[in-house]
Amino acid sequence: MKLAAKLVLLFLACLALVVGVFSFLSLKQAQSLALTEHEQHATDLAAMLRSAPDSMSKEQQVWIAQSEEVHHVRLRLVNPHRPYDPSLRPTVPTDLVIRVTEVTTFSLPNDAGEETMVTYVPLHDAAGTQLEVAKPQAYWSKQLSDSLRRSAIALLAVSTVTSLVILLGGLWMVGKPLDLLVQKVQRIGHGDLSGPVELKRDDELGKLGQAVNEMCEQLEQQRTRIASETQQRLAAVEQLRHADRLRTVGRLAAGLAHEIGTPLNVVSGRAELIASGRLSSEDARASALTIKAQTQRITSIVQELLNFARSKTLQRATIDLNQLLAETVNLLRPLADKKQVQVTLAPFESEAPAEVDSAQLQQVFTNLLVNALQAIDAAGQIDIAISKIDPSQIEQGLSLADVKQRSDQYWQVSIRDTGQGIAAEIIDNIFEPFFTTKDVGEGTGLGLSIAYGIIREHAGCIIVASEVGVGSTFKVVLPATVPS
Ligand code: ADP
Repeated sequence: MKLAAKLVLLFLACLALVVGVFSFLSLKQAQSLALTEHEQHATDLAAMLRSAPDSMSKEQQVWIAQSEEVHHVRLRLVNPHRPYDPSLRPTVPTDLVIRVTEVTTFSLPNDAGEETMVTYVPLHDAAGTQLEVAKPQAYWSKQLSDSLRRSAIALLAVSTVTSLVILLGGLWMVGKPLDLLVQKVQRIGHGDLSGPVELKRDDELGKLGQAVNEMCEQLEQQRTRIASETQQRLAAVEQLRHADRLRTVGRLAAGLAHEIGTPLNVVSGRAELIASGRLSSEDARASALTIKAQTQRITSIVQELLNFARSKTLQRATIDLNQLLAETVNLLRPLADKKQVQVTLAPFESEAPAEVDSAQLQQVFTNLLVNALQAIDAAGQIDIAISKIDPSQIEQGLSLADVKQRSDQYWQVSIRDTGQGIAAEIIDNIFEPFFTTKDVGEGTGLGLSIAYGIIREHAGCIIVASEVGVGSTFKVVLPATVPS
């Protein structure tokens, strides 16, 4: 219900209450006034009878008085001590009247059923005569109801006019501006801060409108500032991730020099043979094909490295985790071979689709594998396995509530190494940015914190378990793409 209508209803309810109480009190007052007047009249008549000359009988005097009265008032002389005389028997039961010693009024219906006030005034003569003055209440009741009706009509007119004024005034002065404010607040709720609310008025609602507009301006400024800060922060994170990728490229380059060296030797040997001119045309052709194959191999090695190093725009797509891990292992194989570390990959039995940013995810796996390689001093083993798990199997990591929102099933990529392991007292710190136990130039302490950030953005988690002298296992958990 509109505010103005509620105000009108409240006003009318209050008015009805006040008028009701006032009318009730007026009625009571009018009744008591009528009674007092009536009793006074009866007392005056009785006094007149008492002081009348003895030459005139009381009956005669009453008769004269009655003739002067208006027709609805009836005067009689009664005597409750002589009930056997019907002309003197009081209208009210005798036993009540007999106890009357001063002016007393009874209210009872007359023969016609009209409510009547019957007043008795003792004349204090030897016979115990009393003056009975009867007056039907209908007479003054009618006067009273007439006056009440007139008041009610006046009141109805006043309340109608007032209600209309409140209703129209309320709609114009309160309802309309409030509607505008409500619409504005709803727009704010939906994130639309544009279009100030136009309330050109100098009252509280005008001030409220102004305050809302100012609040929107401030929110807009803050929103712009937060957007630009977020942009800067994202750019900084991206730069950091890129720097981390370049650092890994540096590490991989050492292994790649050897990897490229072998095909280069083959190329130069075959080229020398062709140049000697001692080869038959068939052999020369075979050598040329070998040169071609080896240069393609070199190109693909360099291409893989360049792909990894290149700063890429973020984009998610459904990829096969088996394939991504195979490529990553390929990229790292030269480094592993150099350290005589055996890397095994146990892919998932079928495709392992996940909606991820493949470049970012490759960075995560590369960081974990480089760490594993660095943790192995002499020859060792790195085992990678992909499996499917459900949320109940995630023992630790991100809050499960977070994770459950995304998927019913998860991929778990476990990377187990036989390295030196991580001491229990530092295991809680390894994901902190710039935490490293490696020498200057060897470690920056960014690898795991970047991996953690990327996996969190993918609504997943990284779980680590380690034993000093035995090795470490890093498990990357990611939501599995639900097959459509
Ligand atoms: P960085 O490798 O540059 O030191 P990271 O954030 O990648 O930075 O790793 C932080 C630390 O965690 C490492 O310095 C190392 O002590 C520890 N760590 C990470 N992975 C392993 C692992 N597989 N085995 C042993 N220690 C590890």
